[in-house]
Amino acid sequence: MNQRRSARLIPAIVPIVALTLGAAAFAQPAPQPTIVTSFSILEDFARQIAGEGADVRVLAPVGAEVHEWELVPQNFIDLEEADVLFYNGYDLETWLPQAEATLAEGALAVAVAEETGYETLPITLGEFEGAPDPHLWMDPRAAVRYVEVMRDALVAADPESAATYEANAAAYLAELEALYEELREQLGAIPAANRLLVTSEAALLYYAAAFGFEHEGIWGSNAETEGTPEQIIRVVTLVREREPAALFWESTISDRYVQSVADETGTPVAGPLYVDSLGEAGTGAESYLELQRANAALLVETLR
Ligand SMILES: [Zn+2]
Repeated sequence: MNQRRSARLIPAIVPIVALTLGAAAFAQPAPQPTIVTSFSILEDFARQIAGEGADVRVLAPVGAEVHEWELVPQNFIDLEEADVLFYNGYDLETWLPQAEATLAEGALAVAVAEETGYETLPITLGEFEGAPDPHLWMDPRAAVRYVEVMRDALVAADPESAATYEANAAAYLAELEALYEELREQLGAIPAANRLLVTSEAALLYYAAAFGFEHEGIWGSNAETEGTPEQIIRVVTLVREREPAALFWESTISDRYVQSVADETGTPVAGPLYVDSLGEAGTGAESYLELQRANAALLVETLR
């Protein structure tokens, strides 16, 4: 009964709202676009490009598991209000169809990783073996391309602020380019015999390719079943054969699987590595630049 009554009221209200907005458009500068990002890495990139005070929102927040995030009520509000949606693509966000269905007509949705044209590497094991691995952002050279794609999308969506986006992006791109060189030099201190990274999710393929590591995980993608007996047995066998200096756990998933492999093999455990999310306040991995530096510091400290 109540719902029906409010439904009848809506048509009377809409023209008034439209008139009010129309008048405001003449009196004030164009409103800033609402930029919605799928996870915290893209949120950071968007804030760097759009600058202080921009309306940047995130669906899977810091610390959340992005692959299998379940949209919460606030996400639907953000998606309905979005002018631009930035998501990674290559099936990182298994929930993307639901998010896209909620977007307003005319909103721009950008699969950032896919738009980079950066060469993909195949997932190496598990249910999704052979599909393009989505974790391209872990290579700072791919992150450069992410920022270029996002800058161009924002310029297209909001040409009035083009100069701001271009200037902010240029400054940040210089930092990302310097970061790659900095990490390469720092990680170069790790001896060849210790350059095997074993984690829960084998999400460091691009990172390993960028910095000269071998990489193994217990499972291939967080989108599949985690920690099955078969996965544990395979990696225990591998760890016994290869004898890595340490096993690493990641911030967005339980360390219990890595711990059980460590218990079984007597290998030390280190972590967390930040991959699918920035770190929470106080972790020292609260931005993409800090995330990369925190990971590199941990690897050098553990493996050198
Ligand atoms: Zn992942």
